[in-house]
Amino acid sequence: MGRRGVRVAASDVPTSIHLRRSYLRERPAALPELSELDVVRHFTELSRRNFGVDTSFYPLGSCTMKYNPKVAERIASYPGFAHLHPLLPQLRMGGILTQGALEVLYEMERLLCEIVGMAAFTMQPLAGAHGELTGIMMMAAYHRHRRNHKTTVLIADSAHGTNPASAAIAGYTVASVPSDAQGGMDVQALKGMLNDQVAGLMLTCPNTLGLFNPNVREICDLIHSVDGLAYYDGANLNAIVGKVKPADLGFDIVHLNLHKTFATPHGSGGPGSGPVGVVEKLAEFLPVSTVIKRSDGTYALEYDRPNSIGYIAPFYGNFGIILRAYVYILMLGREGLERVAENAVLNANYVREKLKDYYHLPYPQVCKHECVFSAARQAERGVHALDIAKALIDRGFHPPTMYFPTTVKEALMIEPTETESKETLDAFIDAMIEIARLAETHPEQITAAPTTTPVGRLDETAAARNLNIASL
Ligand SMILES: *Cc1c(COP(=O)(O)O)cnc(C)c1O
Repeated sequence: MGRRGVRVAASDVPTSIHLRRSYLRERPAALPELSELDVVRHFTELSRRNFGVDTSFYPLGSCTMKYNPKVAERIASYPGFAHLHPLLPQLRMGGILTQGALEVLYEMERLLCEIVGMAAFTMQPLAGAHGELTGIMMMAAYHRHRRNHKTTVLIADSAHGTNPASAAIAGYTVASVPSDAQGGMDVQALKGMLNDQVAGLMLTCPNTLGLFNPNVREICDLIHSVDGLAYYDGANLNAIVGKVKPADLGFDIVHLNLHKTFATPHGSGGPGSGPVGVVEKLAEFLPVSTVIKRSDGTYALEYDRPNSIGYIAPFYGNFGIILRAYVYILMLGREGLERVAENAVLNANYVREKLKDYYHLPYPQVCKHECVFSAARQAERGVHALDIAKALIDRGFHPPTMYFPTTVKEALMIEPTETESKETLDAFIDAMIEIARLAETHPEQITAAPTTTPVGRLDETAAARNLNIASL
């Protein structure tokens, strides 16, 4: 047909490479022949099959899929930042071209120290889990330095799966601390597990049930009583940002997920940033390099750190992500960050109150940034958490997190985030109520979902294990 979108000029570069005949095509490749309009329509159609915060409500608990201001994207794309090459010799020496970037890193460390109450930060870790590993490696360095013989890290049974994985990779044995009837860490059980072997404890507070543990200070004191360190998993800091400093609760190490709390959209595995903050006594173990401010006011990278755990990331972390977070924090300021926590908590409790008569709520107390329902009541009618999730897709909403935390049967973990309006929450609540009613009267309509998507129910395990995008 000869249809085409663009006409590429004939090459005027002489061919100098002589390929063997067997490498050459005998006839032209069978490429699709499409006009520009056909191509634009094809890709626009594909893009519409994407689901994101920019298209619809995305209450994926423990993931904080919130709207992130586009101004942070804009600033991160400024050529002075985006085109900065990490191998510029000036970076190491602190030369003029790199002063702006180094200042961002330095100031960002100061801001995060202020927000969580720590003495020093490293901005290098490339994800939350990477921050955890960095933090636990510092824990190990601390104990080595003190000649402590420690083998075990204690972790709540409701913890994010990365916590035990990080502690194990750092060489520790993991012991799981059970939850009590209120859904928090069981302090009596913790006391029974304490001994000289305990290197530290990892805690998420509020935990993955969205519940703030009122005993958190006592828990940290108990860990310190055996010369252990208390690690705060601050992946979802939006619940307490500007309100509570983990250092004031007794924590020694904290990681944050900039790609959940501080203005980087996330999903599909990256890119991320999981900076780690530590109290003064652990600062000497921070990874190399660190950013320093010299007496003349200029910035440089410092490598001479004899007790450091060493290199944990190439160059200096995901700079573009750190820059977005810096813009976001400066834009909101102290009051704005407090509003983030207030709205995140208000929105989650609004959803909790409105849905508690329709779905079982295993822990009915006031929650923080997310609430966890159970579809146990609907399951009696053959409608499971998975079916409810699929029915929500038909109604234009992304499903909540399902079957996590594993301490709740048929869990539906909803995190509305701080950025959603009352109208959006009401529309979601209406959909959830409609699904609960249909589960009673016409359960087959829910188990048949989704009916509006290009593909129906997929074998998600097989899709992940045997990914074949060519067949899509
Ligand atoms: C997301 C999350 C993590 C892990 O962060 P990644 O960037 O995905 O590695 C750790 N803990 C909690 C509580 C989380 O929600």
